[in-house]
Amino acid sequence: MRFLPVFLDLHSGVVVLVGAGDLVRAKLRLLASAGARVRWYATDGHHGLGDGPGADDAAQIELATGDPLTADLSGVIAVLCAGAGSVGPAMSARAKAVGLPVNVMDDLEHSTFIFPAIVDRGDVVVAVGTGGASPVVARRVRERIEAVLPARIGELAGFVGRWRKTIHSLIGEFPLRRRFWERVVDGPIGALVLAGRGEEADAALKNIRNISEFAGALPSGTAEGSVALVGAGPGDPDLLTVKALRALQDADVIFYDELVAPEILDRARRDASRVPVGRRVGKPGIGQDAINRSLIEAAKSGQRAVRLKGGDPFIFGRGGEEIEALRQANVSYSVIPGITAGLGAAAQFEVPLTFRNEALRVTFLTAHKARDAEAVDWSTLTDIAMTIVVYMGMTAAPSVRAGLLAAGRSPQTPVGVFARATRVDAAAAVGTLDELPDLVEKVAGGPAILIIGDVVAHSAPARYQQLNQLASYFQVAAE
Ligand code: SAH
Repeated sequence: MRFLPVFLDLHSGVVVLVGAGDLVRAKLRLLASAGARVRWYATDGHHGLGDGPGADDAAQIELATGDPLTADLSGVIAVLCAGAGSVGPAMSARAKAVGLPVNVMDDLEHSTFIFPAIVDRGDVVVAVGTGGASPVVARRVRERIEAVLPARIGELAGFVGRWRKTIHSLIGEFPLRRRFWERVVDGPIGALVLAGRGEEADAALKNIRNISEFAGALPSGTAEGSVALVGAGPGDPDLLTVKALRALQDADVIFYDELVAPEILDRARRDASRVPVGRRVGKPGIGQDAINRSLIEAAKSGQRAVRLKGGDPFIFGRGGEEIEALRQANVSYSVIPGITAGLGAAAQFEVPLTFRNEALRVTFLTAHKARDAEAVDWSTLTDIAMTIVVYMGMTAAPSVRAGLLAAGRSPQTPVGVFARATRVDAAAAVGTLDELPDLVEKVAGGPAILIIGDVVAHSAPARYQQLNQLASYFQVAAE
């Protein structure tokens, strides 16, 4: 991010506009409709407004004469050049010299700020930027946002704005205040405003008898804390559930695992504190007891904590242990499922985990160390109509192979190693059970899951491999 979106207070001074032609008129329209005071230097000496701003807006526009390059800039808050030709870069140098933000249209090199695509709903304004790279992409994003925002979202912001001071004086504590407004905005009162029934919304808000109870305060008057165990999915942030996203947006603090990709944390509320608690490569994590203690402490201090885990919290994620500890500590909690790595990999690489008569059962197992693999009773896994998904199985791959072969599963059973599934650097290696340890080497690093069973033959990489083999067979035959 090179350009940080900020909002400029147009009441704080004058915007200097330099330039001529249609480009300048478009900017005049934008600035005038936003209520800016504009001082316009027409570089062609022609101040005609054409189909620019309307008469009311025009009152805000001062038609300046003289040379903008030597004009007095006191009281100016920004400089804008549109269709200004060679005056643009010169004006930019001047603005930069006195520390004024400057935009030269379609000229990133001489601009210190750029204009976003704007969604304007009164008090709610959304700015969309692409760092100047593509206004067309920005406009497409804007269209999508326009489509999902309720028409009266600006009125809702205005409603909250009007009541803000009053509520501030009634609820001193910040976390409780935030929750109060969340309940108003997400609940029936917000719905009334969005339906255009503002007066009824005002009445409903006035009618709230116990404001702090409405905000969900405990009898002690403080906010009630909670913990949400949230599955972050296998890596692709678009695989977060809508509920997970909401929990991340509402969180005060996020305790996350090493498996959680930074792109996912990027979707959390900016002000939430982030605490890594997982094992890092070569470094131990803080340990399960310490994690449990941190979750309990956070909730007891009134915070909304999110415990964010890769995949699903209840699949080899210690979610069970954590909710046990939370229950014992009398902390309120919820569990939000995520897409587990096995399902993410299956979808990405097209491994149908069940398939007609070929695969009627699926088993998820873990074989973290050779020791774990040896503890597995492989004799229960010999059914050829069963797909086996192995988590944490990279190191123990030789033991997994040994166990299944000893139990009688065919060395020709199709297997796949799927690494970093759904991430940008995902990789797959497919072959036979016999080759399993070599396949693990091929994917060049984890995390990876192993999928074992006939269904792997239907996977995209297996089909691709067959095609290549066929091609080279024909090539050899032709030679
Ligand atoms: N709760 C997680 C699993 C945690 S155990 C889930 O439901 O997915 C950690 C193991 O998950 C890793 O050793 C690996 O086997 C698997 N894993 C996690 N993310 C993965 C990914 N993106 N691709 C492949 N395997 C992954």
